[in-house]
Amino acid sequence: MNDKIWLSSPHMGGAEQKYVNEAFDTNWIAPLGPHVDGFEQDLAAYTKTKHAAALSSGTAALHLALIMLGVKAGDEVICQSMTFSASANPIAYLGAVPVFVDSERETWNMCPDLLREAIKARFATGKKPKAIIPVHLYGMPAQMDRILEVAKEYDIPVIEDAAEALGSSINGRAMGSFGILGVLSFNGNKIITTSGGGALISENEDHIKKSRFLATQARDAAPHYQHTEIGYNYRMSNVCAAIGRGQMEVLDQHIENRRANFNFYKSAFAGISGVSFLEEPEGYRSNRWLSTILVDPELTSGITREDIRLGLEKDNIETRPLWKPMHLQPVFENSPFYGNGVAEELFKNGLCLPSGSNLTQNDLSRVANGIKKLFA
Ligand SMILES: *Cc1c(COP(=O)(O)O)cnc(C)c1O
Repeated sequence: MNDKIWLSSPHMGGAEQKYVNEAFDTNWIAPLGPHVDGFEQDLAAYTKTKHAAALSSGTAALHLALIMLGVKAGDEVICQSMTFSASANPIAYLGAVPVFVDSERETWNMCPDLLREAIKARFATGKKPKAIIPVHLYGMPAQMDRILEVAKEYDIPVIEDAAEALGSSINGRAMGSFGILGVLSFNGNKIITTSGGGALISENEDHIKKSRFLATQARDAAPHYQHTEIGYNYRMSNVCAAIGRGQMEVLDQHIENRRANFNFYKSAFAGISGVSFLEEPEGYRSNRWLSTILVDPELTSGITREDIRLGLEKDNIETRPLWKPMHLQPVFENSPFYGNGVAEELFKNGLCLPSGSNLTQNDLSRVANGIKKLFA
């Protein structure tokens, strides 16, 4: 059996170990410490935002972001349907209701026209949505200019789920820095990892300070433990932040490698009709966290994305269908949805290919040959 090729596996650069050793040598093995401060500064500098809070996960970051915007039980929050469940779950944690919006075809992210339609429809029921959560899927930026325009028109704040898009940008401006708050993730399969972790980035110092406060059990300033608010245990540990500092040194290289994976697949499948790629709109730069293809069985003489997935699985190669939209998830079946069929079609025909920044040329060739064999 050939070695396993993973969809997206952790890729250490080298300096991580040094920073972790530093944490051990100084006995900073706590959910605060110099590496946490340093990592926050690295993130703010990289995304050109003023402030960052390092947290235990991207999900925790989203949860705190919603709390910052005052989301409470019974409120409605608009969320992209085509995404990972972690974009929507924190809405439910608060007893609020997610309202799902479908995607457009240019970026596969929240459709600004359907967003407007959804807001109008919710206003008509007497409810003003409390927040809008667009997602930059697989690293491709959503159409932020148009989404922000609609959000401004109706005076609704935007939380950007940039968990998959660290290092992506529109006209040089970092994803995560467009909304009131931006969410990042450093889970094991993301473009950089702290083994598990996340962050909030923002221009708003109050939001970031308050998030750090709530993330450390909402301890009031007192020698004893005193609390006037419900807190959370959501802070990143100094050991994880040490890994993160090392990863920041190789982030740009990871992006180059992932973009090279995408270009490799694109040229490898250039002659195959029915297999298509998502291109970057002008001014958009994707970190190409995952390389994805769409497979149109009408043009491939019947070969489906599932045929490709199962074919590659036989050669020990991991691929995965695109995210199953939230409006099709049993757990969210009672949530309102404003759609046009795009997300459903993407789910039906889309496949994520192995995309790690540590793939070898041999790995990439195995994937390409595996797919070409199916089309031979
Ligand atoms: C990974 C991810 C998250 C959650 O981040 P965790 O750090 O795993 O909690 C949220 N949204 C999207 C779109 C993600 O891909």
